[in-house]
Amino acid sequence: MLDVENLGIRFGGLHAVRDVTASIPAGQITAIIGPNGAGKSTFFNLISGFYRPTTGTIRFQGEDLTRRPTHEVVARGVARTFQTTTIYRELSVLENAMIGHRVRTRAGLLDALLRTPRERQDARGSRDGALRALERVGLVQQAHLPAGALTQEGQKRVGIAMALASEPKLLLLDEPAAGMNPEETVNLMALIRELVAGGLTVALVEHKMSLVMGLADHILVLHHGQLIAQGTPAQVSRDPAVIEAYLGS
Ligand code: ADP
Ligand code: MG
Repeated sequence: MLDVENLGIRFGGLHAVRDVTASIPAGQITAIIGPNGAGKSTFFNLISGFYRPTTGTIRFQGEDLTRRPTHEVVARGVARTFQTTTIYRELSVLENAMIGHRVRTRAGLLDALLRTPRERQDARGSRDGALRALERVGLVQQAHLPAGALTQEGQKRVGIAMALASEPKLLLLDEPAAGMNPEETVNLMALIRELVAGGLTVALVEHKMSLVMGLADHILVLHHGQLIAQGTPAQVSRDPAVIEAYLGS
């Protein structure tokens, strides 16, 4: 579904991601793992258009998305969540999800101010799209609560709903289980499985090995910005280069 070739980005002298050639297959769960600072979040920032690569190409469903701005990447069907939750605590859960939908339709500020027919149509569309997204993450009952009133796990679900509201084909989750207890982690795994069963492709960065090993079909291992291994959980977990990267970190 998504293919990167020789993908890289430098920050000054630091190669945060270096010469990565890899694929995210459709209909599966791909995990990106690696020690802290390996370049995992940067990899997501590259494929979601937040960072412009210094080298390489990004193709999504056959289309070249290299150096496209984020809203164009979202419009093609790639959405992401962030490592640190970036919801609007004072707004309702529904309004948060509506913002996620707006990223896709990109109704202009002018439309909103002038209350144009397009704006009114977009507003209805956003609400419906947002409600569908809340239903998928099990938050319809909480739609009218301020997002900040939810538990940390609930707020993570709001972040996922914001991404889902843009109706993605590929969903990128950056450390979705961070700060979750074991029960919440199991519930999150069930949610991700449901989303994939419904046709979504998921790629996630995660530290919790129980989650990665129990969930991923395919694993990419980054170390110092480079892809050092890939394969099934069983293959990757007995790869000497992977063991060494984790022991040495
Ligand atoms: P990970 O998510 O695997 O822990 P990151 O992708 O966040 O790692 O970071 C990889 C490296 O790139 C780190 O050394 C980090 O400090 C650096 N880095 C990430 N983003 C930037 C940036 N915008 N400017 C400078 N350095 C950055
Ligand atoms: Mg990170």
